[in-house]
Amino acid sequence: MPQQHDVIIIGAGPGGSSTASFLAKREIDVLLLDRATFPRDKTCGDGLTPRCVAMLEEIGVLSEVEKYSHRINSARIFSPNGKFVEAKLKSHGKIPDYMLVSPRYLLDNTLCRQAIQHGANFAGNTKVIDILQCDSGVTVIAKQRRQEVHFEAKVAIIATGASLSLLKKTGFIETIPEPIIAARAYYEGVREISDTFDFHFDGVELPGYGWVFPLGEGRANIGLGYMPGDKNRAPKNIKKMLRDFVELPSFHPMLSSATPTSEFKSYPIRTDFSTLRTYHARTILVGEAAGLVNPLTGEGIDYALECGKIAAQHVESWLKNDDFSESRLAEYDQALRDQYQLLFDFCSKIIDCCLRPFTLNLMILAATYNSEIRQSLTDIFLGNRAPATEPTTWNIIKKAARALVKR
Ligand SMILES: Cc1cc2nc3c(=O)[nH]c(=O)nc-3n(C[C@H](O)[C@H](O)[C@H](O)COP(=O)(O)OP(=O)(O)OC[C@H]3O[C@@H](n4cnc5c(N)ncnc54)[C@H](O)[C@@H]3O)c2cc1C
Repeated sequence: MPQQHDVIIIGAGPGGSSTASFLAKREIDVLLLDRATFPRDKTCGDGLTPRCVAMLEEIGVLSEVEKYSHRINSARIFSPNGKFVEAKLKSHGKIPDYMLVSPRYLLDNTLCRQAIQHGANFAGNTKVIDILQCDSGVTVIAKQRRQEVHFEAKVAIIATGASLSLLKKTGFIETIPEPIIAARAYYEGVREISDTFDFHFDGVELPGYGWVFPLGEGRANIGLGYMPGDKNRAPKNIKKMLRDFVELPSFHPMLSSATPTSEFKSYPIRTDFSTLRTYHARTILVGEAAGLVNPLTGEGIDYALECGKIAAQHVESWLKNDDFSESRLAEYDQALRDQYQLLFDFCSKIIDCCLRPFTLNLMILAATYNSEIRQSLTDIFLGNRAPATEPTTWNIIKKAARALVKR
């Protein structure tokens, strides 16, 4: 007989573990499955935005995460001509005025353990290969050490990140979305490292950006993301692009005596939320599986944690009313659209209009003279708040031009 649960969550990254925590805290019977054995690493920049920090506090793990993370109070944005602007972070309501850099090997384990502590059941080394409809809801079919195992639940939650196989198998994805491609490497012995989140548009191919996120004691996570956008563009070797990036003369003082402590690792980032349906026959998507990653910055841990909370609220209500109809599941999709669609539309416009050398140079120069533009740019790069309306892009450009003309 297959094991029976109320909810089965596939994927124990930030999205899956956050959903499991919120559900288990409400005493709902949850089974969390992952193909990896925990703790496991995840290729990432390790940057936790202020809204991510706020969610860690809500989940109840912030004090533990802070023990092994590096705290950052400001961000710098480098324009293609090498000039940069620096802004101290400001708090917005519950969102604090600082960020963290936190190795995923530790962070994801903390989040998974928190879900278990709240009462979730967890099985690692369990790769889910399909989800089928059954009388009681769904049958989740998985492989454990080459053996096929079955689990049953009233509802399934797919939180498998950028991995496409299960989404294709279950009919969520037909055409493969164009992801951001990204790579990172860990360094130690980094000198003159600034205690800021550094976003680099200098020495990178646009649309894309590089980052240097300090981990403390001369260690840093350095990486690069590129948004191919158009399928017709020639394929890129992102690891080679990262190698070229770290060899830029401008990095010489910082990296000349530094050594990489890891291989250069790359992984795709899915940002196709705008075109994806996030529910289908007793199954919903959470986090990056729902394409919920900021298309401008590639940051997705914050949205994965937030999305887990939204999913848990909806699932609890479906279970209470024993109603898993399409219209109830659609309410979850609508809640995500209400929360994120404006931000996604806005970021796509910024990528199209602003990630060009002239515009970036102009905006970053203007931001050095005008604190309002400086704050707007920092908020945009940290995904801190959704800009109110589309014309905001033009407002920023216009303000930037006006600030320069005034000077
Ligand atoms: C190079 C790079 C740099 C990045 N930098 C940042 C950053 O600095 N800040 C930030 O916020 N975001 C960053 N991101 C994005 C971030 O890593 C993701 O958005 C985030 O991990 C999404 O969380 P998730 O829980 O949805 O998915 P994931 O963290 O990917 O977790 C998915 C889990 O599902 C499991 N899984 C997959 N398939 C199956 C299956 N069939 N059966 C069972 N288990 C399965 C996997 O083992 C994994 O544990 C970066 C991404 C990359 C690639």
